[in-house]
Amino acid sequence: KTFDQAGLYGAFLANVKKAKYEKPTPVQKYAVPIILSGRHLMACAQTGSGKTAAFLLPVLTKMMENGLEGSEFSEIQEPQALVVAPTRELAVQIYMDARKFAHGTMLRPVVVYGGTSTGYQMRQVESGTHLLVGTPGRLIDFMNRGKIGLSKLKYLILDEADRMLDMGFGPEVRKIVEQFHMPPKDERQTLMFSATFPEDIQKMAGDFMDDYLFLTV
Ligand code: AMP
Repeated sequence: KTFDQAGLYGAFLANVKKAKYEKPTPVQKYAVPIILSGRHLMACAQTGSGKTAAFLLPVLTKMMENGLEGSEFSEIQEPQALVVAPTRELAVQIYMDARKFAHGTMLRPVVVYGGTSTGYQMRQVESGTHLLVGTPGRLIDFMNRGKIGLSKLKYLILDEADRMLDMGFGPEVRKIVEQFHMPPKDERQTLMFSATFPEDIQKMAGDFMDDYLFLTV
């Protein structure tokens, strides 16, 4: 099986080839069709499994196919897709992968994370973003300042969810999902990735998604 038959957007296939991804990893093989079909997904996959491309490629494909309206320069940005990640390193890695896949398209990824000044990130956000990647605290900071709104969100991705809970970000993640006027769970597509599936992750999955598919690789 190759990426060519997976139903991905043409420009992304070219970029996947350039990145020398020859055949899909198991999580990519199973998650891509599930995500393209519009289902919610809880996937248990380790770092190194190729999970980043497994969610980015189908989400970016759906965004290209359904239209990229609304990311002009503006005081408040309403991204279509939000990826929440536990650390700066992971957020930057996801952002770099998104940039690599979206190269040559109009799709604009932006990343925000803590531990550094907000100036540069603020200008990046204001310049427009379709796909925003961020760590929980910095995302909340931008939303509290009215720079980011979630009312147009179509895709919510929580990456390394177990690590976010281990690091104590549970309340922040809940706040992002529940207190910033994100569309309700039946009006957005939610994807959760986690290496493990303990009770607190099961609870979160149940709270954030109805009728999700469970995938373990
Ligand atoms: P991830 O699990 O998403 O952090 O990916 C682990 C590493 O595998 C990254 O360096 C990716 O660039 C690489 N990778 C992801 N998918 C593939 C693939 N299908 N073929 C080859 N390398 C891949």
